[in-house]
Amino acid sequence: MPSFTNPSEIARETLRMLASRRIPPSPDNYRALYNEIAGSEEKAADTFPETELKTLLASLPKETPAQQGLARQLEQALRGKNWDDYRKTLVDFVKEHSAENELGWSELIGDFLRQWEAKQSGLTAARKRESLEHVLSGGANNDAVLFGRLQSLVRSWSLNGAAPDELALVEGEVEPAAAVASSTAAAPADAPPVRGGTLSDLRDLFAYTLEGAVAAQLPDEPELAAEARALAAAVRGASTPKAMEALQAGIKRLAFRLELLSEDRAELRTGLLHLLQLLIDNAGELVLDDHWLHGQIEAVREIVARPLNTRAIDDAERRIREVIVKQSQLKSSLSDAQEALKSMLAGFVDHLAEFADATSDYHDKIEVCAEKISKTQNISQLEDVLTEVMHETRIVQLNAQRSRDELRAAKQRAIEAEQRISELQSELDKASDLVRHDQLTGTLNRRGLEEIFAKEAGRAQRRHSPLCVALLDIDNFKKLNDTLGHAAGDAALIHLAAVIRETMRPQDTIARLGGEEFLILLPDTDIEDASRAVVRLQRELTKKFFLHNNDKLLITFSAGVTSMAPGDSQASLIERADKAMYHAKQTGKNKVSISPVDAPDQIY
Ligand code: GH3
Ligand code: MG
Ligand code: MG
Repeated sequence: MPSFTNPSEIARETLRMLASRRIPPSPDNYRALYNEIAGSEEKAADTFPETELKTLLASLPKETPAQQGLARQLEQALRGKNWDDYRKTLVDFVKEHSAENELGWSELIGDFLRQWEAKQSGLTAARKRESLEHVLSGGANNDAVLFGRLQSLVRSWSLNGAAPDELALVEGEVEPAAAVASSTAAAPADAPPVRGGTLSDLRDLFAYTLEGAVAAQLPDEPELAAEARALAAAVRGASTPKAMEALQAGIKRLAFRLELLSEDRAELRTGLLHLLQLLIDNAGELVLDDHWLHGQIEAVREIVARPLNTRAIDDAERRIREVIVKQSQLKSSLSDAQEALKSMLAGFVDHLAEFADATSDYHDKIEVCAEKISKTQNISQLEDVLTEVMHETRIVQLNAQRSRDELRAAKQRAIEAEQRISELQSELDKASDLVRHDQLTGTLNRRGLEEIFAKEAGRAQRRHSPLCVALLDIDNFKKLNDTLGHAAGDAALIHLAAVIRETMRPQDTIARLGGEEFLILLPDTDIEDASRAVVRLQRELTKKFFLHNNDKLLITFSAGVTSMAPGDSQASLIERADKAMYHAKQTGKNKVSISPVDAPDQIY
């Protein structure tokens, strides 16, 4: 071949050769022939072999994340036609991958054996074998794939069978193959999303719990609440097992802080209860002389001694308010009475002193007069002395009269003070009508019932839970009163109230509507259960006799039970319960009748 040095000659010759050798005139063929004619083999070697490398890249496996990463890097080097980058990427990959592989397998097999022998909650040996078989069948023809899948499987076992994919496996809701597929995808960022069904439901439920239950419970801990809300949002957005895994540390941190918080709160609660106990003890000491107040304080003491719930706290608060009202009334009546007594005594003492002064002066003067009389020589002298005696006596007389008048006035003031005290006492009695508890039995009175009824009715409506009412009327109470006396009747009422309190649940409310009629409010109770509870109360009364002068007396009652319907008021409910109670009386007493909401006329 003649040698050409001029590029235009080389180009012309290249075109001629392409035609004579019948080679397609593509840029690559042109370039190769050009180099051949120009005699520049070294230059040809330097040329970036794009086509070949592209073909090579296309045939490279891209199954593992590492392989995909390699393909991406090679593609980049190709685009930049950077041979050095291409070569370096390939060399690094081979070095790194072979080293990792050698190291990884021995470690992985060791881990695998440990997890195979270990016990994980919710994972039986059969399930482990099943998962392993799926891993082996899915990746047996590719070392890297097999390595990745096995690694994910071992990791999910080490999470105590609690990895999201394994959870699904335990529940049997996801096909084992699918579970393994998501398990193998633990490493890649573009792993398949967390699958629907139980797992995704659980994820949503967990997010809801964090937001609706945990964060909502922390109104006074805004930072912690914000953390719970942020985690909830992250959980909702975590669509891959890997993303879920990434949240674990945050969730653990939140759980730990919540644990600390609940310990703090428990300590605070105990401290507050002790403080309250102390206050109650102290108040109890202060009001020892007042029977009624002492009873209320005792009731509060009992309430806080039991496990606390909102109803018990409400009750304690109401009782303390009553104590405060009663105490302030007592204090003002006492200070009024004291003032009146003090001023009366002061007046009396002043008066006595004045009287004593006046009479001793009189005695002195009379003595002087008597001496003068003994020394008188004549009648005219005697007349002068007598005039003096008369004068002094008159003064004493006037003084005595004035003292008597003043004492009368003081007595009048004392009587008025006494009247004022008794007026105050009756005002106090009227005020006790305003409080919410019946003074005889300690149950709620009508006023107290109204408040509780409003609360319970609201609660029942909000929670869509049933609320029942039972109306009780003692049988033949008039006879008991007439034969044993009113005091025995009172004691029987106290006894019945105590038995109701002991028998019914703490959340049930007991009120005395008046006379020998009681009402029980039963929240979260359907009509059949309410009726059963009242029948149980009747049985208890046959066991817990009322003792009168050591005689065991059986008290019975008739009751009507009904449950609240939409649109019911306290009055309409009581009216229905009253009709049912009347039915129980009519059909023989000592019975419990039910008035169904949907058919109020069909009492049974
Ligand atoms: P029935 O079985 O039909 O209910 O008859 P009863 O005798 O129980 O009912 P009645 O309504 O005829 O009588 C109720 C009596 O309750 C009348 C009254 O003397 C008595 N009573 C009402 N309040 C009190 C109270 O506070 N203390 C006492 N000891 N008796 C009361
Ligand atoms: Mg009655
Ligand atoms: Mg009665």
